[in-house]
Amino acid sequence: MAKLGMSHKVREVKPTRAEARCACGDVVVEIAVPAQWAWHDHSAPARRAHGAAYATYVGTWKSRFRFVRGEDCLSRYDADGAVRSFCARCGTPMLYERSPQHVNIPRALFTIGVGREPRYHLAIDQLRDWTYLGEKLGPLKGFPGVVWTGGRRKMPAAKTHGRRQSD
Ligand SMILES: [Zn+2]
Repeated sequence: MAKLGMSHKVREVKPTRAEARCACGDVVVEIAVPAQWAWHDHSAPARRAHGAAYATYVGTWKSRFRFVRGEDCLSRYDADGAVRSFCARCGTPMLYERSPQHVNIPRALFTIGVGREPRYHLAIDQLRDWTYLGEKLGPLKGFPGVVWTGGRRKMPAAKTHGRRQSD
Protein backbone atom coordinates (compact mmCIF):
# COMPACT_ATOMS: atom_id res chain seq x y z
CA MET A 1 0.00 0.00 0.00
CA ALA A 2 1.37 3.40 -0.92
CA LYS A 3 2.08 5.80 1.86
CA LEU A 4 0.47 9.15 1.69
CA GLY A 5 2.95 11.93 1.18
CA MET A 6 1.40 14.29 3.68
CA SER A 7 -0.40 13.83 6.93
CA HIS A 8 -4.08 14.42 6.64
CA LYS A 9 -5.45 15.93 9.78
CA VAL A 10 -9.17 15.63 10.08
CA ARG A 11 -10.50 18.79 11.58
CA GLU A 12 -13.47 18.22 13.81
CA VAL A 13 -16.42 20.19 12.57
CA LYS A 14 -18.52 21.25 15.51
CA PRO A 15 -22.22 21.77 14.96
CA THR A 16 -23.42 25.36 14.98
CA ARG A 17 -27.01 24.51 15.73
CA ALA A 18 -28.80 22.05 18.01
CA GLU A 19 -32.30 20.75 17.48
CA ALA A 20 -34.89 19.90 20.13
CA ARG A 21 -38.08 17.99 19.48
CA CYS A 22 -41.17 16.84 21.33
CA ALA A 23 -42.12 13.18 21.77
CA CYS A 24 -44.48 13.07 18.78
CA GLY A 25 -42.32 15.24 16.49
CA ASP A 26 -44.98 17.84 15.74
CA VAL A 27 -42.84 20.56 17.35
CA VAL A 28 -39.18 21.03 16.45
CA VAL A 29 -37.05 24.02 17.49
CA GLU A 30 -33.40 24.84 17.11
CA ILE A 31 -30.87 27.11 18.78
CA ALA A 32 -27.43 28.35 17.84
CA VAL A 33 -24.73 26.69 19.93
CA PRO A 34 -23.18 27.20 22.33
CA ALA A 35 -26.28 27.98 24.32
CA GLN A 36 -26.27 30.87 26.79
CA TRP A 37 -26.38 28.65 29.88
CA ALA A 38 -27.87 25.49 31.34
CA TRP A 39 -29.21 24.70 34.80
CA HIS A 40 -31.33 22.46 36.98
CA ASP A 41 -34.58 23.89 38.34
CA HIS A 42 -35.80 22.23 41.54
CA SER A 43 -38.79 24.53 42.10
CA ALA A 44 -42.29 23.12 42.52
CA PRO A 45 -43.62 24.77 39.32
CA ALA A 46 -40.85 23.19 37.22
CA ARG A 47 -41.26 19.85 38.95
CA ARG A 48 -45.00 19.80 38.28
CA ALA A 49 -44.74 21.09 34.71
CA HIS A 50 -42.36 18.23 33.90
CA GLY A 51 -43.79 15.56 36.19
CA ALA A 52 -40.22 14.90 37.31
CA ALA A 53 -37.91 15.40 40.29
CA TYR A 54 -36.54 18.53 38.65
CA ALA A 55 -36.20 20.12 35.23
CA THR A 56 -32.94 20.73 33.42
CA TYR A 57 -33.07 23.70 31.06
CA VAL A 58 -30.95 25.17 28.31
CA GLY A 59 -31.31 28.93 28.00
CA THR A 60 -30.71 31.01 24.91
CA TRP A 61 -31.40 34.43 23.49
CA LYS A 62 -34.54 34.63 21.37
CA SER A 63 -32.38 35.93 18.53
CA ARG A 64 -30.54 32.57 18.53
CA PHE A 65 -33.75 30.50 18.60
CA ARG A 66 -36.23 29.52 15.91
CA PHE A 67 -39.05 27.12 15.22
CA VAL A 68 -38.25 24.48 12.62
CA ARG A 69 -41.92 23.49 12.71
CA GLY A 70 -44.98 23.28 14.90
CA GLU A 71 -45.26 26.70 16.57
CA ASP A 72 -49.02 26.53 16.03
CA CYS A 73 -49.08 23.12 17.74
CA LEU A 74 -48.14 24.65 21.12
CA SER A 75 -50.50 25.09 24.02
CA ARG A 76 -49.53 27.82 26.49
CA TYR A 77 -49.87 28.08 30.25
CA ASP A 78 -49.28 31.53 31.70
CA ALA A 79 -48.68 31.71 35.47
CA ASP A 80 -46.47 33.54 37.97
CA GLY A 81 -44.91 35.79 35.34
CA ALA A 82 -43.81 32.90 33.16
CA VAL A 83 -45.21 31.18 30.09
CA ARG A 84 -44.81 27.44 29.65
CA SER A 85 -45.55 25.95 26.24
CA PHE A 86 -46.40 22.31 25.64
CA CYS A 87 -47.00 20.28 22.52
CA ALA A 88 -50.80 20.15 22.28
CA ARG A 89 -50.67 16.63 20.85
CA CYS A 90 -48.15 14.75 23.05
CA GLY A 91 -47.83 17.08 26.07
CA THR A 92 -44.05 17.47 25.97
CA PRO A 93 -42.95 20.65 27.78
CA MET A 94 -41.18 22.67 25.07
CA LEU A 95 -40.56 26.26 26.16
CA TYR A 96 -40.27 28.13 29.43
CA GLU A 97 -40.19 31.92 29.05
CA ARG A 98 -39.70 34.56 31.72
CA SER A 99 -38.49 37.48 29.61
CA PRO A 100 -39.02 38.71 26.06
CA GLN A 101 -35.33 38.31 25.18
CA HIS A 102 -34.77 34.75 26.39
CA VAL A 103 -36.22 31.30 25.94
CA ASN A 104 -35.51 28.13 27.91
CA ILE A 105 -35.84 24.62 26.53
CA PRO A 106 -35.66 21.32 28.42
CA ARG A 107 -32.19 19.80 27.96
CA ALA A 108 -33.69 16.34 27.44
CA LEU A 109 -35.34 17.40 24.18
CA PHE A 110 -32.07 18.10 22.37
CA THR A 111 -30.73 15.48 20.01
CA ILE A 112 -27.10 16.66 20.35
CA GLY A 113 -24.99 18.66 22.79
CA VAL A 114 -25.68 22.35 23.27
CA GLY A 115 -22.18 23.47 24.26
CA ARG A 116 -23.10 24.14 27.89
CA GLU A 117 -23.05 21.86 30.92
CA PRO A 118 -25.87 22.32 33.46
CA ARG A 119 -23.72 23.50 36.37
CA TYR A 120 -26.23 25.71 38.15
CA HIS A 121 -29.10 24.83 40.47
CA LEU A 122 -32.14 27.03 41.06
CA ALA A 123 -34.39 26.52 44.09
CA ILE A 124 -32.08 23.88 45.58
CA ASP A 125 -33.92 24.44 48.87
CA GLN A 126 -36.88 22.71 47.20
CA LEU A 127 -34.95 19.53 46.37
CA ARG A 128 -37.16 16.55 47.18
CA ASP A 129 -35.97 13.75 49.43
CA TRP A 130 -36.96 11.19 46.77
CA THR A 131 -34.69 12.65 44.09
CA TYR A 132 -32.04 10.21 42.90
CA LEU A 133 -28.66 11.66 43.83
CA GLY A 134 -26.34 9.00 42.48
CA GLU A 135 -26.48 6.53 45.37
CA LYS A 136 -24.89 3.12 44.85
CA LEU A 137 -27.25 0.76 43.04
CA GLY A 138 -27.47 -3.02 42.86
CA PRO A 139 -29.54 -5.52 40.85
CA LEU A 140 -33.06 -6.28 42.05
CA LYS A 141 -33.37 -10.06 42.27
CA GLY A 142 -35.91 -11.49 39.86
CA PHE A 143 -36.21 -8.31 37.77
CA PRO A 144 -33.52 -8.23 35.08
CA GLY A 145 -32.57 -4.69 34.16
CA VAL A 146 -33.96 -3.19 37.37
CA VAL A 147 -31.52 -1.80 39.92
CA TRP A 148 -32.23 -0.30 43.32
CA THR A 149 -30.65 1.31 46.32
CA GLY A 150 -31.15 -1.80 48.43
CA GLY A 151 -33.39 -0.30 51.06
CA ARG A 152 -34.67 2.79 52.72
CA ARG A 153 -32.44 5.82 52.69
CA LYS A 154 -32.52 9.04 54.57
CA MET A 155 -31.45 12.23 52.91
CA PRO A 156 -28.93 14.16 55.01
CA ALA A 157 -30.51 17.20 56.69
CA ALA A 158 -28.07 19.48 54.88
CA LYS A 159 -29.51 18.46 51.53
CA THR A 160 -33.10 19.17 52.53
CA HIS A 161 -32.06 22.42 54.21
CA GLY A 162 -34.14 21.43 57.21
CA ARG A 163 -37.38 21.61 55.26
CA ARG A 164 -40.18 19.17 55.72
CA GLN A 165 -40.76 17.17 52.59
CA SER A 166 -44.44 16.96 51.83
CA ASP A 167 -44.72 16.24 48.13
ZN1 LIG B 1 -45.58 16.52 20.30
